[in-house]
Amino acid sequence: MDREDFKYIWLLLKEITGREKKMAACTLLLSVLEAVNPYIAILCTGLLVDGAYRGEGLRALFSCAAAALALKLLVQILCSRLGEWFNQKMDYTRELDEEQLNRQSLFMDYEYLEDTSIQELRTRPLGRSFFGIRGWFLLQLKDSLKELLSALTAIAILFPMALQDGLDGERGGLSLLASLLLFLVIGVLVWGNYRAGIHYTRKSVEILDGLDGVHNKSAYYLDMLSGVESQKDLRINGQQGEINQDVGALFEASRKGEWRMGQMYIRRQFLNVTFPGISGLLVYLFAAVKAYLGQISIGNVVAYTASIIRLAQSASRFAICAGRMKSTADYARDYITYKNLEKKKQGTLFVEKRRDNRFQIDFEHVSFRYPGTEKDVVKDLNLSFVIGEKMAIVGKNGSGKSTFIKLLCRLYDVTQGCIKLNGIDIRKYDYQEYCTLFAVVFQDFCMFAFPLGENIASGARVEEGRAREALIRAGFGERLQSLGEGLSTCVGREFGQRGVSFSGGEKQKMAIARAIYKNAAFVIMDEPTAALDPLAECEVYAGFDRMVGKKTALYISHRLASCRFCEDILVFGQGQVVQRGSHEELEGKEGIYRELWNAQAQYYQ
Ligand code: ADP
Repeated sequence: MDREDFKYIWLLLKEITGREKKMAACTLLLSVLEAVNPYIAILCTGLLVDGAYRGEGLRALFSCAAAALALKLLVQILCSRLGEWFNQKMDYTRELDEEQLNRQSLFMDYEYLEDTSIQELRTRPLGRSFFGIRGWFLLQLKDSLKELLSALTAIAILFPMALQDGLDGERGGLSLLASLLLFLVIGVLVWGNYRAGIHYTRKSVEILDGLDGVHNKSAYYLDMLSGVESQKDLRINGQQGEINQDVGALFEASRKGEWRMGQMYIRRQFLNVTFPGISGLLVYLFAAVKAYLGQISIGNVVAYTASIIRLAQSASRFAICAGRMKSTADYARDYITYKNLEKKKQGTLFVEKRRDNRFQIDFEHVSFRYPGTEKDVVKDLNLSFVIGEKMAIVGKNGSGKSTFIKLLCRLYDVTQGCIKLNGIDIRKYDYQEYCTLFAVVFQDFCMFAFPLGENIASGARVEEGRAREALIRAGFGERLQSLGEGLSTCVGREFGQRGVSFSGGEKQKMAIARAIYKNAAFVIMDEPTAALDPLAECEVYAGFDRMVGKKTALYISHRLASCRFCEDILVFGQGQVVQRGSHEELEGKEGIYRELWNAQAQYYQ
């Protein structure tokens, strides 16, 4: 464990104690009680033996035994009640992690969500421990504290005994020396065991890191093969055999990894058993010699040997916990880093409320490259939106159309240049405020397993009349009438059989309705008709003006014919606007637009 490890352990501890104070207090109390519990019997036995040896009366011996028994009983009851409570809480520590991580995912900058190295910070620690990060940490904390306190208690018992021996003349001095030597030998064994613990933990982490890919792929196959969507393609393309082999290979890789982990565990356990065994043997020999020389009372032999054996065991177990704490520190680092990912500088300006929707957007020398990549996918883009105009964006795949939308919606910030709203850099606006300006139907839009009305209103407060009207304008009117539960119909069957599995085209209409309902100043549609049948597609084109009204609209499509109704068409090529004009103007000119138009026209005439 280095300073960094301690730092993350400390930060995790701060987070846990800040939120689950009772759990932290319980962990502390439980470790103290579990640590001292065995010593009650050890000390009492020593006292009783010495008392009997000194010939003390039965009454005194009984009182001593009864007091010890009562104390033991009390500690035992407390341990078991607290232990039960602790275990119950452990049932949902993982859920607590998930709750925190989900919250962070919900509010973090969008670009982090597309960054796999960032997302691994979330999946890796959760994938490693059944109890989640805080559960695993609390378990290790409890065990480490318990073993540390147990070792310290043993030392506290042993130290006066060793000193007492040392004060007893020359032989006593020799005995003290021998005691110190014994402690030294045990210390070396403990240190060796600790190093071995660290070594094995590091090796285990290496194996687990190697298995990450295997587990991710297995999880992907599990997901893929439990749904029906993929099964059609697999069957028709005869891919089952290959996938079957992959599944087998993944299982084999996983089995080998687990086997290596098992081997490591056996070696580790061997050391854990051997070390206290050797220590115990040394202690018994030592105590026997001291008793033979008359340097130690019979009662002390019991307390002495039991305490040293306990010390050796605790030291050994502490070494294991310390090794595990190292992996806990790794999980804590991932978790804390994910939770503390810095947010982009958030602007504070409010967006001016304009009933006339006169919002002017300008792209000024905008360039952008995705984080971790070397190439600009948008290059020195200069562009202004004419208010109230309907603009189409076309271009080959990968020409930067969707990226352009992401920049406009501030899912990513530009790398160079700036985008302005009414003359002010959009980064200066409050992000949530800025978002209210846009209604977007993304190419890969998502409808949620909530009631239809809530999907359209994007929240629990649904203005039913408006929601119905939006659905009708998006061409969903007839289907809405056929739904027994109307706007309350649950989209999808994830939460019950009463939900309805809508087709891709139906969901696309809902997505359009959601954009209409939002009534934002800008309407952006990225391939909004891809899943619609020709009639529904025609309805969208014919009703587009009605749908977007006087708003500024951006329409992205591969189907050039569908863009003809826009007054202004932008042609994207390699992250730049390479052509601009009306359909008639562009069709008459040499360039990408004519190339694309002619290619499509061959098949659609
Ligand atoms: P279009 O919408 O015109 O098909 P995109 O804007 O989706 O094009 O993509 C433009 C370029 O950016 C492509 O080369 C694509 O591979 C790349 N790209 C898109 N998304 C990402 C991403 N999240 N990370 C890295 N590169 C990306």
